[in-house]
Amino acid sequence: IHSVRKIYKIASIPADGIGPEVIRAGIQVLNKLASVLGEFEFHFNDFEWGSKVYKKTGQYIPEGGLDSLRDYNAILFGAVGDPDVPDHISLWSLRLAICQPFQQYANLRPTRVLRGTSSPLRNCPPGSLDWLIVRENTEGEYAGQGGRTHIGTPWEVATEVAIFSRHGIERLMRFAFACAQKRHRRKITVVTKSNAQRNGLVLWDEVAAAVARDFPDVEMDKMLVDAMTVRMTLHPETIDTMVATNLHADILSDLAAALAGSIGVAPTSNLDPSRQYPSMFEPIHGSAGDIAGKGIANPIATFWTAAEMIRWLGHEGAADGLMHCVENVCERGIKTRDLGGSANTKEVTEAVCNEVESVL
Ligand code: ATP
Ligand code: MG
Repeated sequence: IHSVRKIYKIASIPADGIGPEVIRAGIQVLNKLASVLGEFEFHFNDFEWGSKVYKKTGQYIPEGGLDSLRDYNAILFGAVGDPDVPDHISLWSLRLAICQPFQQYANLRPTRVLRGTSSPLRNCPPGSLDWLIVRENTEGEYAGQGGRTHIGTPWEVATEVAIFSRHGIERLMRFAFACAQKRHRRKITVVTKSNAQRNGLVLWDEVAAAVARDFPDVEMDKMLVDAMTVRMTLHPETIDTMVATNLHADILSDLAAALAGSIGVAPTSNLDPSRQYPSMFEPIHGSAGDIAGKGIANPIATFWTAAEMIRWLGHEGAADGLMHCVENVCERGIKTRDLGGSANTKEVTEAVCNEVESVL
């Protein structure tokens, strides 16, 4: 009896800066993993979207582009950002233009210190920083609601309205608690700022408390976001899963990535837990214009992203296996400069491929 090999259609959108370099590396590693394990196969389709095309055509996503993504099993995204395009335009026209209509309301950011790398924190023995950040990804402070009046005058006023719906909070909280329940510590911190914001985040706290009653085996605590930054820095071992709003989690996850060693290793998943639409996987880092084209970008964020993608597709063992190989390579000192090494993107990628070949 031989098992059926799963075939996955993956849309890759490398886009800007170091995006194409790290996505190329990620595809190489995924294909190696597929051929070694024989349990799945990937059919990649490259979408040449990004700031270069935008500057020529005025569009990030061509007519009908979004629809063409719908029947892929997942989207692998590089980075968007260009010195000639204001960030709020590029971000809204490409990344958020996919997240919002595809209802990718849960953004997952696992963070830990990989074996063979270290945290800049003094008090951080192995295993003590192992977090899962769950970020609300479709509403909150980044809902895009608001406007400007009296433009250009001394009386100009701009509003940026944060949207919190009971439905939006509840689906996110349920997902976050379910994630916490699957981890061995079964512990979640609900991050808030309901002392200063008296509507949206009060609703946030109320819904969290209600959802917590349905997860009696998950230990919940609540923390103001400012205090949370201190706790992450001084007592990382007291935290496991945290759930936070779009803006708060955005900031906390940059801090988390830095505390875990480098933004060059951190992955993100933009998930539609209903699985009606494809989910999107990307490294946390941006286009990194300062190192683009030099072949020195750390590809590990994309490898970890790839691992999270195959985990979402149902191949838990393969995902863990890939991370095991990545950590072996770090432990042997084959690391890029951001991790204190001197290897380039290609060397790290080849080392990981060889490791997959010999270990898995
Ligand atoms: P964007 O505008 O697209 O967000 P950015 O340059 O503002 O881009 P990042 O791309 O996140 O933000 O880069 C922040 C810093 O981290 C830069 O100095 C960059 O070189 C470094 N960096 C980011 N990603 C990597 C990586 N994969 N490997 C090595 N260094 C990285
Ligand atoms: Mg940036």
